[in-house]
Amino acid sequence: MALLKRALETLEKSQLKITERRVRMLEILYSEDRYLSAKEMKMHLKEDYPGISPDTIYRNLHSFSELTILEETEISGEKYFRANCSSNGHHHHFICSECGYTIELTECPIAYFKDQIGDAQVTSHRFEVFGLCTNCLD
Ligand SMILES: [Zn+2]
Ligand SMILES: [Zn+2]
Ligand SMILES: [Zn+2]
Repeated sequence: MALLKRALETLEKSQLKITERRVRMLEILYSEDRYLSAKEMKMHLKEDYPGISPDTIYRNLHSFSELTILEETEISGEKYFRANCSSNGHHHHFICSECGYTIELTECPIAYFKDQIGDAQVTSHRFEVFGLCTNCLD
């Protein structure tokens, strides 16, 4: 998996130590290929790391997302994380709020608001579309 390999390289260059546990978390996220909560991650890690706390998991996932290895969102007040789905840089998502399935949206809508924003300076923006994927609609 090329993307996982790249994520591990990014981790190697960061301040974070490469531990078996961190590698396992990334393996899970890159094979699931959808948004997972820290709670769901704990379920996946239960067998190999029964003692791991949700806080530790959350902290690690958050650090990964600061390294842009992961993407982060919030569904009903809970944080979710997924492997960065794109090597094409800036993009947005359709996210299934039921199962975390994601469709990458390659167009960025920020340009449409240029006139309304005027001379103010945009430093960041969020644009996410939530709904139910075709699987969850059945
Ligand atoms: Zn993405
Ligand atoms: Zn779904
Ligand atoms: Zn954008």
